[in-house]
Amino acid sequence: MKPVRAYVALGANLGPRRATLRWAVRALDACEGVRVLRASRLMETEAVGGPAGQPDYLNGAVELETTLAPHALLSVLLELESRAGRHRERTEKDAPRTLDLDLLAHGDAVVDDERLTLPHPR
Ligand code: ADP
Ligand code: MG
Repeated sequence: MKPVRAYVALGANLGPRRATLRWAVRALDACEGVRVLRASRLMETEAVGGPAGQPDYLNGAVELETTLAPHALLSVLLELESRAGRHRERTEKDAPRTLDLDLLAHGDAVVDDERLTLPHPR
């Protein structure tokens, strides 16, 4: 596939947040077909939704160049989340997480299926 620009939002509100986000940026860059072009600073934000009193998030975003198709890139993101210790079974919506990687945009792709919505609706 021809390389396109893609944008990924990173968030963490459990565990060693800063180290996890830095690891995620390096791990993304190390993936076949993915190159990190730029990374934002990390910002602390209050959690939106989910259980009351959950810890604050550390958030950032990266700009990528990728030859992976949208669903293939999503699979990479979900794999990195689980490698960072995120467990999805029996957790409610907006539960705290060690790592959240959301695909904000992938070139000019428009997708709306079971697995993926692009551009990201939120
Ligand atoms: P959220 O990020 O909204 O808090 P989750 O991280 O638990 O929710 O993701 C739930 C599901 O959202 C994922 O399994 C994935 O299939 C789906 N999803 C749909 N569109 C996207 C997208 N653009 N980026 C990341 N995940 C997405
Ligand atoms: Mg997510």
